[in-house]
Amino acid sequence: NADMAMYRAKELGRDNIQVFTEEMAARAHERLQWQEELREALAGEEFLLHFQPQMNLGTGRIFAAEALLRWNHPVRGIISPSVFIPLAEETGLIVPIGDWALRAACRQLKAWQDAGLPPLIISVNVSARQFRERNWASRVAEILKETGLEARYLELELTESLIMQDVPGAIATMHALEAIGVHLAIDDFGTGYSSLSALKRFPVRRLKIDRSFVTDIPLDADDMAITSAIISLAQKLGLRVIAEGVESEAQVEFLQKAGCDEIQGYFFSRPLSAEAFESLLSSARP
Ligand code: C2E
Ligand code: MG
Ligand code: MG
Ligand code: MG
Repeated sequence: NADMAMYRAKELGRDNIQVFTEEMAARAHERLQWQEELREALAGEEFLLHFQPQMNLGTGRIFAAEALLRWNHPVRGIISPSVFIPLAEETGLIVPIGDWALRAACRQLKAWQDAGLPPLIISVNVSARQFRERNWASRVAEILKETGLEARYLELELTESLIMQDVPGAIATMHALEAIGVHLAIDDFGTGYSSLSALKRFPVRRLKIDRSFVTDIPLDADDMAITSAIISLAQKLGLRVIAEGVESEAQVEFLQKAGCDEIQGYFFSRPLSAEAFESLLSSARP
């Protein structure tokens, strides 16, 4: 009986190992396939940017737009960055893809400026792999020169986890970016582990309160307390503060009372194609 059990365990074990390796092989294969497709997407210009307006609560004006990457896949259609950014990060392709997004965002804003649209800041997301590239700040400077956009119109969004991976290195790159005149923001603020004492050493201009704290306002008292605390922290440190993922009027009212400077979210506008954003901006013109 005991022998029998042993025998069956071995059999099972062998089967499990086989299943495991098959699954791993399938996953590796799938990853290679994605890698190939991402490379083709970059070469074939399948990426595009959408633009989500950011509104100043004091003036009611659009003062900035966040550039958000989209992949227009020839078969699968539009693919969300939450699907392909992790894949691009894993394969290292995020570096050329991120550069593409930065260049495209700068070029688009320059075109809007040349067309006489109201002044605007463009906000671009940066991944950790990109930020850690050697001399990344000079690459940003090159992209600005190449596209003709003045540095003061560009804001780069960094996450807390990106900064915390290597605080001294990040601070050095942040200072190099600041020196060329680019503004910096901390994205998804409150979800990472940046210590409050480190925060004062970061040359950032804005905090973006993560959507997860905003979603349940005005139902969740804890989230309201955290949001208010982030707003007053920002105020006391002399930083601007924007709330992400604002979807309702009640949230706008709460944020306004709490002293939040700016909002971004579906309540005001979803991310838009360049054309749709342009007509929104033209119609909002004073
Ligand atoms: P993120 O930088 O935090 O961008 C905000 C995300 O929240 C966007 O998702 C936006 O569409 C979504 N959002 C905005 N308002 C609302 C709202 O009211 N409700 C809800 N439910 N969602 C809202 P998206 O476009 O899917 O982007 C997801 C993430 O992908 C971004 O989060 C960012 O981390 C990353 N990403 C996007 N573009 C780039 C890029 O060019 N480079 C890099 N490295 N990452 C990017
Ligand atoms: Mg962002
Ligand atoms: Mg965010
Ligand atoms: Mg995010």
